[in-house]
Amino acid sequence: MSDLSDSQKPDPSLAPDNAIARSEAAALFHLIAENVQQVFFLMSADCRQMLYMSPAFERVWQMPREAVYRDALCWLERIHPDDLWLFDPTSGDAPLARTPEHECRLVMSDGATRWVRMQTIPITDASGALSRVAGILSDVTERREHEADLARSRDEAEAQVRHRTRELLAANEDLLASEARFRTLTETVPVAIFIQHRAQVIYANPAACRLTGATTDQLPMIDLGALLTSHGVRGPAPNAGDDLDTAHGIDVEFVRPDGESRVLHVNRSRVTFEHRDCLLLTAIDVTGPRRAERALREHQASVARVAHLSTLEGFASSVSHELNQPLSAIVSYARALQNRAERGAIDGEFLRLGLDRVAGQAMRAGELMRRMRNFVVRGEIQRRDVDLNAVAREASTSLADLALDRGVAVSLTLGAALPAVTGDPLHLEIAVSNLMKNAIEAVAETPRYERVVRVVTTVTADGRVRLDVRDTGPGVPAHVAVSLFDPLVSTKHGGMGVGLAITRSIVEAHRGTIALVAPATNDGAVFRIELPAAGGGAS
Ligand code: ADP
Repeated sequence: MSDLSDSQKPDPSLAPDNAIARSEAAALFHLIAENVQQVFFLMSADCRQMLYMSPAFERVWQMPREAVYRDALCWLERIHPDDLWLFDPTSGDAPLARTPEHECRLVMSDGATRWVRMQTIPITDASGALSRVAGILSDVTERREHEADLARSRDEAEAQVRHRTRELLAANEDLLASEARFRTLTETVPVAIFIQHRAQVIYANPAACRLTGATTDQLPMIDLGALLTSHGVRGPAPNAGDDLDTAHGIDVEFVRPDGESRVLHVNRSRVTFEHRDCLLLTAIDVTGPRRAERALREHQASVARVAHLSTLEGFASSVSHELNQPLSAIVSYARALQNRAERGAIDGEFLRLGLDRVAGQAMRAGELMRRMRNFVVRGEIQRRDVDLNAVAREASTSLADLALDRGVAVSLTLGAALPAVTGDPLHLEIAVSNLMKNAIEAVAETPRYERVVRVVTTVTADGRVRLDVRDTGPGVPAHVAVSLFDPLVSTKHGGMGVGLAITRSIVEAHRGTIALVAPATNDGAVFRIELPAAGGGAS
């Protein structure tokens, strides 16, 4: 056995006849075999002898070539056990390998796996008998790894596609389910739902269609703003540009296409619908309940009016009776001074005395007024725990008609867990109603969208219960503000000017304080009542 490359003498059975040609061919073969990446080998026909193994073998197999020259089949040791079946060095029909071309794995001494491609070529002699087995081996590890990587990424991509498809299917099912729920809900609730985008209705549920008398294809023709205003809305018109908070939850009067008048409770909010900024408007027909409420309120109001009138009447008759005396005295003194003056018999001393007496009687009249007012309040007052939030709600209910008539939105922001105050709920309601009535009257002259009265209850840092009545009216003029709580101060046509005086009496009778805290003209007015919490010292 000899290494062809070492001896530079190719086997004579392969050699051409011509010696020169033979040595040239050998040199060429040597050049190729020594320099290409592939491994060439040549074995005897029975595969017992390795006749030539090219140097690349050592790099690919990591085994010295001497080993294969000693033991022609020792290179089979590197073949992966699972791939050994590909080789059959004992078969005479298919020399060395079962297939002329295959790929198999090598297990290297460090445990790493490499892939080689093997082609075996049977060489026959002139008689056609097998004389040699030649072979070419190529390291295809890199290509195999690429293929494996590709297969892996293809598997991952496929897995991702499968996963995403499942997700999409599930999402679609969810969507269909929620759409079905939404459809059932919107189609069955007795609430008219409109979705408007840029002043155009893009969705209306069956209740909304019934209300407006429009069919689904007539939706774009519905002009909500015009519809609600032209049909006699009383209260801020729900136009898209309005401040949503202030016009939130209002009652509007609506005349249906068939001419029937209904009261709708309308709520609006901004929503994103089909990726667009829209206005969601819901309307509930509250005609029945509102009629019942109105009847109840009218009844309550007439009872309260009678009670209020009798209080005022009592107050007025007591005042006139008590005032009669000092007023008569003032008139007498004035006449006496007048007579003397006409006769030219008036001296300085008489004038001083007369005027002193007039002033004294006038002060007495003032004192009487104060006493009478206190009497009116004190004479009827009860003492029990009162929830100021409930008082605010009652007052707001009793003034709802006035607010509706004047197109004023009244909002209550009532503090949670407000402590009770001690006193008379009816008197406190009269006090809060007076403030709210003044506020409604004050804002009634401002533009519609600005007509807002807010009642806010809170607890102060020192534990007193506070109730603010805020309005967006013109504010209290400075010349009125100085004597605001005095009786008979009024800037209203036909105003009696006793509302704030009575309110102050009631608040003070409850050990509370009342003040105008934002008197600035044009910024609206804020009237503030503060009362001690029950158990906090109120008597
Ligand atoms: P009246 O309402 O009969 O005029 P009031 O004592 O209730 O009597 O009110 C006295 C005056 O105080 C009113 O005429 C008005 O000028 C002024 N006033 C009261 N509340 C307000 C308010 N919220 N905004 C502006 N002015 C007000």
